[in-house]
Amino acid sequence: MGAPGEQRAAGGARILDGKAVAARVRAQVAERAAAFAARFGRRPGLAVVQVGEDAASSVYVRNKRKSSLEAGIESFAHDLPASTPEGEILALVQKLNADPRVDGILVQLPLPKGVDTNRIMDAVDPAKDVDGFHPVNTGLLAQKRPRLRPCTPFGVIRLAQEYGIELTGARACVVGASNIVGRPMALELLLARATVTVCHTGTRDLRAEVERAEVVVAAVGKEDFIPGDWIRPGAAVFDVGINRTAAGKLVGDVEFERAAERAAWITPVPGGLGPMTIAMLLSNAVDAAYLRAGVHI
Ligand code: NAD
Repeated sequence: MGAPGEQRAAGGARILDGKAVAARVRAQVAERAAAFAARFGRRPGLAVVQVGEDAASSVYVRNKRKSSLEAGIESFAHDLPASTPEGEILALVQKLNADPRVDGILVQLPLPKGVDTNRIMDAVDPAKDVDGFHPVNTGLLAQKRPRLRPCTPFGVIRLAQEYGIELTGARACVVGASNIVGRPMALELLLARATVTVCHTGTRDLRAEVERAEVVVAAVGKEDFIPGDWIRPGAAVFDVGINRTAAGKLVGDVEFERAAERAAWITPVPGGLGPMTIAMLLSNAVDAAYLRAGVHI
């Protein structure tokens, strides 16, 4: 498949159009979901569980449900009040684990304060873990035999592939080391045979690490945290951060305009990894359906 369109930022960097690539991925998912339905007499099923009414989560959950339906994936909605006891959330997860119509289970994070997130996430059947957060799936990725892969890092890799960005041998710097983005991102880049550095709050000289990198993935969650003049000329910049400015605008972790004067490639925010994350989630849901049906993918 050829690279999807050529657009440039004012600074000169080529834009990695997550929206366009996500549309392609979703079209492929829809074809595979239709083939699954024709073969097995039911559509792949994705359960999305939301506990409480966090405003940002509600937007994500709505998008995920809508995109599932558009891709021909059955969507099972479970909305619980914020006051739901941990035991009840656990019981719902176990019910979904046992439901043969459900191929994928997504528990939207963050869970309300007081709920043990690890306990809930560990209860999801690894075969239905479409977020790829279960220790079994993280472990498989760490051992170079990925199965269900965390959606945002998987989206970075897919975007790089679609634009022909070489990761083998590249010096890659991941800024952020969370369980859901930074760490699995480092594992994905390692799998792609990059030379990976992971930076976090303990990193001594962040600037020096970023300046060396040919591939930068920012996943910190702080507005314009990485100054544009830290970016190495010719680098590929993947900005995972989603931050709302005081003026209500969505921006990433990298200072976009100045970074785009130096980078060869850059993802916009919004329109970069956000749409890719949802597309990879849908792709995981169809993969999970086939895997559960005993079809090697
Ligand atoms: P998190 O808060 O769990 O992790 C942030 C990481 O940044 C930590 O590992 C921390 O060590 C590191 N960090 C914080 N301050 C730092 C500093 N001064 N120097 C170096 N490292 C520092 O966040 P997360 O869940 O990984 O999310 C990160 C961002 O990505 C957020 O903006 C979130 O909204 C966004 N996000 C986007 C998508 C998407 O679909 N595009 C998906 C998930 C998360």
